[in-house]
Amino acid sequence: MSIFNDTKVAFADKSDAQLRKAYWMFKMIEQPALTSLGTSVLNFTVHNNFPFVKSIVKTTLFEQFCGGETREESMKAVKQLFKRGVGSIFDYSIEGKEDEETFDSVCQEIKDIIKFSVGNPAIPFIVFKPTAFGRIDLYEAVGNGSELTSSQKEEWARVVKRFDEVCKLCHEHSKKVMVDAEETWMQDAADHLCEEMMEKYNQEKPIVWNTIQMYRTGRLEYMQQHLQRAKEKNYFIGYKIVRGAYMEKERARATEKGYADPIQPTKEASDKNYNAGIDFVMQNLDKVSAFFGTHNEVSSELVMDKMKAAGLPNNHPNIYFGQLYGMSDNITFYLSAKGYNAAKYLPYGPVKDVVPYLTRRARENTSVAGQTGRELGLIKKELDRRNK
Ligand SMILES: Cc1cc2nc3c(=O)[nH]c(=O)nc-3n(C[C@H](O)[C@H](O)[C@H](O)COP(=O)(O)OP(=O)(O)OC[C@H]3O[C@@H](n4cnc5c(N)ncnc54)[C@H](O)[C@@H]3O)c2cc1C
Repeated sequence: MSIFNDTKVAFADKSDAQLRKAYWMFKMIEQPALTSLGTSVLNFTVHNNFPFVKSIVKTTLFEQFCGGETREESMKAVKQLFKRGVGSIFDYSIEGKEDEETFDSVCQEIKDIIKFSVGNPAIPFIVFKPTAFGRIDLYEAVGNGSELTSSQKEEWARVVKRFDEVCKLCHEHSKKVMVDAEETWMQDAADHLCEEMMEKYNQEKPIVWNTIQMYRTGRLEYMQQHLQRAKEKNYFIGYKIVRGAYMEKERARATEKGYADPIQPTKEASDKNYNAGIDFVMQNLDKVSAFFGTHNEVSSELVMDKMKAAGLPNNHPNIYFGQLYGMSDNITFYLSAKGYNAAKYLPYGPVKDVVPYLTRRARENTSVAGQTGRELGLIKKELDRRNK
């Protein structure tokens, strides 16, 4: 039986009514047909300012998976999580916009979050997506070594500047910053930029953390080679270790364009590779810090076991665990109660801008086998326990 089964701990902050509502919502998004129909309807109606739809979204999906529409509004969730020893990672979830004005304004928002969170241990990390600072096609062109036009060179210089401003500010304020991983075809350029930032700002401790997707082939080798480079240049590495969120898209593109599938062939292979990632971190803890971003109970327990076997304290400063807000509370609150470093990604932003994130969450919950079932089972167990 899983050690993460204590629903009393997991849902201590939720009233019966909140639990019933969450149950109903997960039940809805469990239906793939409903979710795909809902996704198109939602994107259309919210974008066309149907206030009625906005208020429904806000009191359902948004309330479950987001902190609020603004940083200030999200502070309630931050405080509630921190009361139970869980950190918050503000995730400004505007997705899918590709103009310079948006890139600049997101960059400004991230810098504001850094300033807002200085000295606040409830907000241990800052996070951003590389494509929030530049076009995906540009990352791809830079990554595959294409000859850039002079305007593309200028555009790329602006992306580098945005990265640098954020990482520099984090360095000045001693805040850790994680860079999310996205599609494989943009990742080489993002990895390269992250390495540059680490070399600049991780001399004394890990400030900049890149994300490694273990569902990809070749990532273990990348980490081994990166470690060599970091040793030569004498800086620390920070990694967020995840399985990866773009499997269907990756496989479809590889088939369409006729190149080798970059994703592990099976779920078991991804799991095995994730475990190898855990081993890599544990063997190199003097140089490598890790944030294990996962809802997988076996992986989370494996990290705990390895820490114990190595005689490490639960709150070892080089090891973090993280889940998304509104999901896998049974893991997060178990870990924090035992003194491990645990944090939640806390998405926020105007409802209409967060809709792509929310619909992605809903789609993932139908496609990631078991996740919705797990959430539903836990909520039901807790409701039954309370009503016995
Ligand atoms: C805090 C946090 C931050 C995250 N940041 C990122 C990020 O920056 N970039 C990113 O891409 N994702 C990110 N994710 C999402 C993550 O990559 C996973 O998609 C998600 O967490 C589900 O995987 P899991 O480890 O929780 O567990 P599980 O539910 O055990 O695993 C599901 C995952 O296994 C893999 N998988 C499933 N079926 C197969 C198959 N047939 N073949 C091969 N592999 C398969 C896929 O990666 C799938 O998402 C983040 C997740 C968290 C919790």
